[in-house]
Amino acid sequence: MTVENNRNWAGNFKYNASEVHAPETVEQVQALVASSKRIKVLGTRHSFNSIADTNGCHLSLQKLNRVVELDRTNNRVTVEAGIRYGELCHYLHSNGYALHNLASLPHISVGGAVATATHGSGDLNGNLATAVYSLEVVKADGETIVLARDQADGVFAGAVVGLGGLGVVTTITLDVVPSFNMSQVIYENLPLAQLENHFDAIFSSAYSVSLFTDWKSPSFNQLWMKMKLPDAAAATLAEPEFYGAKLAKSHLHPVPGASPVNCSEQMGIAGPWYERLPHFRMDFTPSAGEELQSEYFVPRKDAYLALCAINRLRDQISPYLHVSEIRTIAADSLWLSPCYKGEMVAIHFTWKDNWEAVQQLLPIIEEQLKPFHARPHWGKLFTMSPAELQSHYEKLPDFQQLLRSYDPEGKFRNDYITKYILGT
Ligand SMILES: Cc1cc2nc3c(=O)[nH]c(=O)nc-3n(C[C@H](O)[C@H](O)[C@H](O)COP(=O)(O)OP(=O)(O)OC[C@H]3O[C@@H](n4cnc5c(N)ncnc54)[C@H](O)[C@@H]3O)c2cc1C
Repeated sequence: MTVENNRNWAGNFKYNASEVHAPETVEQVQALVASSKRIKVLGTRHSFNSIADTNGCHLSLQKLNRVVELDRTNNRVTVEAGIRYGELCHYLHSNGYALHNLASLPHISVGGAVATATHGSGDLNGNLATAVYSLEVVKADGETIVLARDQADGVFAGAVVGLGGLGVVTTITLDVVPSFNMSQVIYENLPLAQLENHFDAIFSSAYSVSLFTDWKSPSFNQLWMKMKLPDAAAATLAEPEFYGAKLAKSHLHPVPGASPVNCSEQMGIAGPWYERLPHFRMDFTPSAGEELQSEYFVPRKDAYLALCAINRLRDQISPYLHVSEIRTIAADSLWLSPCYKGEMVAIHFTWKDNWEAVQQLLPIIEEQLKPFHARPHWGKLFTMSPAELQSHYEKLPDFQQLLRSYDPEGKFRNDYITKYILGT
């Protein structure tokens, strides 16, 4: 068995796959799919739950990681789905292009990020799956199909955030934008109370805004503001104070007290988009694990009340937490996106590696967030019942139908899909 001891990145989940293959061509993928009874794509193993598990064959796309084509006429790039954002970003930037947004770290595969609606922050920024223009999918019978945004049958909107259940996504075409520069500043100690009347002003203050807290007090330890700069402009001096928070005078790590050496450049220093949008540097290889993650999406209009609900739990939460991050995401039209038809706010928890304690806390958090119809991140840890989860996705019946028509014998199915998507 290869691929990092058959465990996910955090080490908290051991896959049940009996073998791992790493094909180098689409034809090899087709042959493997056609000859397998059970098969599941493995991306960069960054999910924290059983979503990528299988008791059949694992198909790692680590060798299908090339850039296929840059279409300068339509501003699109086509890549093999195993490419990591970090690798793609270098290529795009050197060709004068950018992606509209990135997640907190660039080591994640494009195929895996798209499959789970991975997101960054920014009021006007949809999650990373919203950049998908088309997908080439190897279906259960080994045949390939191309799904594109402008096809009339609507299947594309159901297939993009596909949780790996519809087939093997071999190539993805993404919208790109002209390359841009950014600068990043951090403010310290933003009182939670400021969000009651200033939520919109705070989150719309920059291209991408994140709040971080360890929930030791009713305030956010840090506010990260990532600003898009006009062409060739140098970053302007940031105001010393922002809604009661003070401009940081040195580089900071989101986790209080941790060294910022691996964090992306701060202090208003201008630089390319792909070195400012993630919180961590590409050349820093995060060591495996020692953390668990959970994240819940609530409607933007409810964000302040939802955060107050979490604040009431802070004495219970903070001993087990590295840090919490709050981000905003634009609405989209992808069936299984947590942001389907609604602007959402994501409340994220990076936990210390103590599942025993975390699994006691998650039901309490989920209970507090119930009035806001919170949706858990597909790739992170949650304890919500399948029935409750399913009730938050109005297009779930359509997705179930898609799943059954693309994969009638359940070749790509695993316990996660059976329980949360098809279960009752
Ligand atoms: C340190 C860390 C930071 C993170 N930061 C963020 C963040 O900022 N924002 C956020 O939203 N999430 C974040 N995540 C979660 C992460 O983005 C998701 O779990 C994502 O799905 C991981 O991608 P992966 O390639 O590792 O996929 P895996 O975990 O390997 O697989 C996830 C799912 O995608 C499917 N899949 C993967 N590739 C394909 C393919 N080519 N075809 C079909 N199905 C496929 C798999 O079968 C599986 O169902 C973070 C995770 C970690 C560990």
